[in-house]
Amino acid sequence: MFLGGLGEIGRNCACIEVDGRIMLLDCGLMFPESDMPGVDLVLPDFTYLRDNADRIEGCIITHGHEDHAGGLSFLLREIEFPIYGSALTLGLARSRIEEAGLLGRTRLIPVADGERRRIGPFDVEFIPVTHSVPNGFATVFRTPQGIILHSGDFKIDFTPVDGRATDLARIGAISSEEGVRLLLADSTNAEEEGHTASERSVGRVLADLFAAHPDKRIIVACFASHIHRIQQIADAAIANGRVIATLGRSMGKNVALARSMGLLSIPDASLVDIDDIGGLDPRRVCVISTGSQGEPMSALALMAANDNRRLVAGDGDLVVLSSHAIPGNETSVGKVIDGLSRLGAEVIHSGLADVHVSGHAKRDELRLLQSLVRPQSFIPVHGEFRHLSHHARLAASMGCPEGRILLAEDGDVIQLTDDGIDFAGEVPAGYLYVDGIVGDVGRGVLRDRQVLAAEGVVMVVITVDMKTGELVTGPEIITRGWVYAPEADELLGEARRVVLAAVEDELASGAVEVEAVGRRARQALGRLVNERTKRRPMIVPVVMEA
Ligand SMILES: [Zn+2]
Ligand SMILES: [Zn+2]
Repeated sequence: MFLGGLGEIGRNCACIEVDGRIMLLDCGLMFPESDMPGVDLVLPDFTYLRDNADRIEGCIITHGHEDHAGGLSFLLREIEFPIYGSALTLGLARSRIEEAGLLGRTRLIPVADGERRRIGPFDVEFIPVTHSVPNGFATVFRTPQGIILHSGDFKIDFTPVDGRATDLARIGAISSEEGVRLLLADSTNAEEEGHTASERSVGRVLADLFAAHPDKRIIVACFASHIHRIQQIADAAIANGRVIATLGRSMGKNVALARSMGLLSIPDASLVDIDDIGGLDPRRVCVISTGSQGEPMSALALMAANDNRRLVAGDGDLVVLSSHAIPGNETSVGKVIDGLSRLGAEVIHSGLADVHVSGHAKRDELRLLQSLVRPQSFIPVHGEFRHLSHHARLAASMGCPEGRILLAEDGDVIQLTDDGIDFAGEVPAGYLYVDGIVGDVGRGVLRDRQVLAAEGVVMVVITVDMKTGELVTGPEIITRGWVYAPEADELLGEARRVVLAAVEDELASGAVEVEAVGRRARQALGRLVNERTKRRPMIVPVVMEA
């Protein structure tokens, strides 16, 4: 059952049910798109989980990215359950859960590479895969209907920075010895031909960049969870005689976490506090910063707006964006590059040099997985619909029988039975919009915001005495974001006259309810506004009783 992630990149969440018990596989969030004003993040629809809370056995987090773990701090408010994942994955997920004050509602249970564990009726094996955050898993579920293999987010990096490679041998052994009934695999890069380059290739490019810019302070931005990237930036910095400071809250936190787990090797002597770099020779400093996606309040965006009190960028700086803009973030990233350039900094991004590689498998790796697994049936997951459909075609081209490839979407329920595999209904899987700490803002609120953003608002305020049927004050017309006021004098005068006539008519006809008066005012004003301006601002009547 897919609650998210099939039809968008983000809010990955699936349920696997065996013997009436439910195992959640990831519980992620999605960052809002530009047509979602004021929305902080988007979650899966938790209706099904809420309705079946007593059947939930736990949640397995495949890796520590927000699109897989970021929804937990919301779901845990409603349902208590244990969470399984690698120690790093749990460490990354923990801070959000802790911030939400919900640690008491879960148990974080670490699992090791290659471990096979029984959780209720679930027999789960955790297989190492490489990705853009360390210690991610593919998961194998041995069910009464055969083996389900979920790839997790993965790439096949033959030379990973930490030496922990995708365990192809184990995947191959399970596939040939036991057979895989159903494969679910990451579709993010299903449109990209070739093989994603090894993370190590970025290390070489970074080393060259550091060597070529001995006279500049170097600032490198990347995802705070990309521990291997941080390691390679640190290695390049240290090799070139620099000390390292982190900038941005999550960067500092994750560096500390990964160092404490032995997953990141930076000697104490090479780390300095960002507040102390002012006293150092800038040519001896490397800053590793958050904000590689141009997030508006991030350290890098503030720096680009010359509004970061910890670090002022200028012509002595080389800024490297060791990242690739996620679809939807291109404009914000562009703005950050522009702002930094205006301040005089030299900016290197993935369009100029190979300072980034993807964490997801491209087509050759997807083919490799298909040929290794030879699944009886296949469902592409983790992607927009076009990615899923490309991935489905790739599987078909490799001999997976067409009838056994299911192009599922959010909300689809798939059933494996003795007779085969098929769609078996739907569950609610709409977007859950979160604004601040308030839960669902709802579709209605979002529609209102879209209208307000695009068309503005026109309010009409009147006071009536319902007993005498008299208009006491108004109509007063107040507008925001609708028309430029000085040019609207005439229009506003006309609006007042039209509303006045409509309200007086309504009162004269014996109206006894305030709502009826408001409705009439709204209709009259709406009609005029639309006729005169061909626009549809939000019309809000405010009728007060004297
Ligand atoms: Zn993902
Ligand atoms: Zn991921």
